[in-house]
Amino acid sequence: MTSQPPVPTPDDLTCQELVEAVTDYLEGALAPEDAARFMRHLDMCPPCHDYVEQIRLTIRLAGGLHADRLAAGERGQLLALFRDWKRA
Ligand SMILES: [Zn+2]
Repeated sequence: MTSQPPVPTPDDLTCQELVEAVTDYLEGALAPEDAARFMRHLDMCPPCHDYVEQIRLTIRLAGGLHADRLAAGERGQLLALFRDWKRA
């Protein structure tokens, strides 16, 4: 019922939002506009790009989509890393 404006939204994903959405992204569960925001963030944020590649590889090695469980411990570390990185 709601029609999204065709112009890109200015509210790009934060790194934390990206990390929280990564499994949905890899499952193809994101709405098209969310996936576009996700990919736009990856383009301008090398740490997130590397993170997604790492998760993708982990999923492949694990033979299935269990990234939520696998990444649970990493997320806290990663978000701390991002905080330091943003400050630097
Ligand atoms: Zn990021």
